[in-house]
Amino acid sequence: TIVSCPLVTSQRRRLSWVQLAGHKGSFKAGDEGSILKKFSENEKLCFERLKEDALHSFVPSYYGVVERDGELFLKIKDLLAKFDLPNVMDCKMGVRTYLEEELVRARVKPKLREDLYNKMLEVDREAPTAEEKKQKAVTKPRYMQWRESLSSTNTLGFRIEGIKRGETCKTDFKKTRSKEDVIQVFKDFVEGNKNITNSYITRLEDIKQALKASEFFKKHEVIGSSLLFIHNHTERAEVWLIDFGKTTPLPDGQNLDHYRPWEEGNREDGYLWGLDNLLQTLSSLARE
Ligand code: ATP
Ligand code: MG
Ligand code: MG
Repeated sequence: TIVSCPLVTSQRRRLSWVQLAGHKGSFKAGDEGSILKKFSENEKLCFERLKEDALHSFVPSYYGVVERDGELFLKIKDLLAKFDLPNVMDCKMGVRTYLEEELVRARVKPKLREDLYNKMLEVDREAPTAEEKKQKAVTKPRYMQWRESLSSTNTLGFRIEGIKRGETCKTDFKKTRSKEDVIQVFKDFVEGNKNITNSYITRLEDIKQALKASEFFKKHEVIGSSLLFIHNHTERAEVWLIDFGKTTPLPDGQNLDHYRPWEEGNREDGYLWGLDNLLQTLSSLARE
């Protein structure tokens, strides 16, 4: 993930849109409270299915496919538009951040990535194995698994991707792993405000109920999707489900429970387990 933090000031109102994850250039400002995200057939299908689902009120409104400068985009509601000076956090959910099919592909036909090898070196010179050092490259799943093991993805079922507070964006959470560190990051994010913390807890409880009722959730492997936390000085606080680029339908008749540990082949993602850990994190802040 190339993380960028441009503050795109939208035309008429003095509102700012911010991108805490994803490739720079995969978003454009849309008109009137919408954003444009680079088209993906998979994500489009997810948005269409979600329109009819129990989860629909926790997912940004989707307005269809549009073309800009010869490129296709998904038009989505800008969740920040109605906030004055929002603070934003992107939490990537689940115990795994790559699809099982990516793992299989890397095994059958390994594609060596020099760019990912270099990103690995930037964080830890000793991370690559002797063989990887020799080939000066790693496969994508290897890189993703290494990132997961550094962060709280494997141990808590979610990880912090980026935060915007005030005028500053922070995206260097690659090594935020322990429960204590994660709690501290949340505490800084809400600035110790109990009303905001409690609103987030209530919203997450509602999301949990909706997930349990959702047919979509039952039938999809939800990988690389995030919960986007947004609040501001008025103590308005919201959480939304975003990023369905890697959310994939299961074969007919197969369901996930989103709690069981992942073993290759069972396609579990640990989403609900991660959500419980996220709720525990916020609850411990509310009690302090
Ligand atoms: P990646 O897969 O690397 O996470 P991506 O290209 O799939 O990135 P998203 O994760 O969907 O992109 O979005 C990137 C960032 O853009 C989010 O972290 C968030 O800050 C912002 N963003 C995405 N969707 C919205 C939205 N509907 N409203 C406001 N901000 C959004
Ligand atoms: Mg994302
Ligand atoms: Mg994505």
